[in-house]
Amino acid sequence: MTQILILGGGPAGGAVALGMKALGYEVTLVTEARPFDAVEGISDRVIQGLRHAGFRKGLSCLPQPSARSAHWNGEANSANTESLIERKKLDAGILQDLEAAGVHVIRQRVRQVQGLVALNDKSSVSVQVMLDNGESLSADFMVEARGRAAPQADFARSRGPQTLSLLQYWHSDNGAESVSQRRSMAISLPDGWAWMAMLEDGRRYLQLTVDVSAAELPVKQQLAKYCQQRFLAIPEAKAFTGNAKPVGVPHGRISTPVLVEENIGSNWIRVGDAAMAVDPLSGNGIFQALSSALQAPAVINTLIRQPADAELAARFYRDRVEGLFYRFARIGRDFYQLEERWQGAPFWQNRCQWPDAEPVHKTVRFDQLSVEMMPVVADGLIAEQEVVITPDQPLGIWHLAGIPLAPVVNQAKQLANRQAFDAWFADQQNCHSVGIQNPAQLN
Ligand code: FAD
Repeated sequence: MTQILILGGGPAGGAVALGMKALGYEVTLVTEARPFDAVEGISDRVIQGLRHAGFRKGLSCLPQPSARSAHWNGEANSANTESLIERKKLDAGILQDLEAAGVHVIRQRVRQVQGLVALNDKSSVSVQVMLDNGESLSADFMVEARGRAAPQADFARSRGPQTLSLLQYWHSDNGAESVSQRRSMAISLPDGWAWMAMLEDGRRYLQLTVDVSAAELPVKQQLAKYCQQRFLAIPEAKAFTGNAKPVGVPHGRISTPVLVEENIGSNWIRVGDAAMAVDPLSGNGIFQALSSALQAPAVINTLIRQPADAELAARFYRDRVEGLFYRFARIGRDFYQLEERWQGAPFWQNRCQWPDAEPVHKTVRFDQLSVEMMPVVADGLIAEQEVVITPDQPLGIWHLAGIPLAPVVNQAKQLANRQAFDAWFADQQNCHSVGIQNPAQLN
């Protein structure tokens, strides 16, 4: 039986593991615990994605959504909510889900990978993976899902402005304060933005995001003092800092948007943040990591069971990862443009223009619709089907609300009443495309 080896047990690695198990493969996953207990805010859409991926234990640790306020461009908005997740708990739940599904989970650090083969190389080579404990694993196919920690240096990449997030917990000795209510806040600053979360047990999680080159970051030994001063200087942060004090030293997390352009070979694939990582401002990181991970099993299945369609499967995967990356990048750019007070400052200037000036969505006219053969996921494999192409959906729409769209468009093209169809199509597209979110959903 074909052996699938997955490196990294976050949402992306976990989703691929469950997907490959469902297709009947033997799956081993190697992962180590993340070095810092990060807190993240997730929307209902991410929770749906985690549920769709098949995580049950992972979801059982999620608290109820709590209030989220946003202070952006001098305006305050507190209409939204988000669930504050402790990543170590989510990751532990994901591993329990995998073990319950029969995935062999090894809790170890991966040290080295060998034997990755390019897509056009037809030789049958096993991937060799060396672990920190000296053990060596061999597999027919490897899934790289080590998030941003996955090696990138040898791969062609596109990167956005270099960004760093500094994270730290704050605690209070004051008993009265420790029963504080769970909540979060995002706020724009002249040289970046901050996100703060108050957990149920009174711990506060403070995250400061700045431009690596523009920020006047101090040396490592003075970073704790720098972060403390920065948060104490934000009047709106008082509701989070209160009488609390920072604990330990800040942890740095690179948050530069990055797309690894070469993301698939004949015996390997990159998924989740290892394939593309977006700006944490969008609060969509887990969602986009799941997006590639949920498509990967059909792509891998095609490479293994129908190698004649390898190029088709690779095109399907590359185009989707790239399309999603730029869509999220443009959504992020539009968020940054909503902050008008510091557009001349390096942090804002860099991000208001990247990646380009293309709109997130393009208006579509009826005469721009075409029907073409494009790769889609069908019965666990990548196959060509007739889809509808539009300037806004260049990868094509196969089904809309469960109905194959190409026959409808072909018929409509023959109808005289094109105006009516135009209105119908615009309406359908509004319902099904990723929209620009409310700035109050920032994190
Ligand atoms: P990861 O979740 O990173 O999982 C990778 C796994 O591989 C980890 O368990 C890691 O320990 C393991 N690993 C790494 N190296 C090795 C190794 N050598 N050997 C073995 N195991 C290894 N997303 C949101 O949805 N909401 C947010 O609020 C949010 N905030 C963020 C804030 C910051 C500062 C950053 C940087 C990101 C944020 N994200 C957020 C994004 C989110 O964290 C990622 O998009 C998501 O976790 C990616 O999932 P993944 O499975 O691809 O990778």
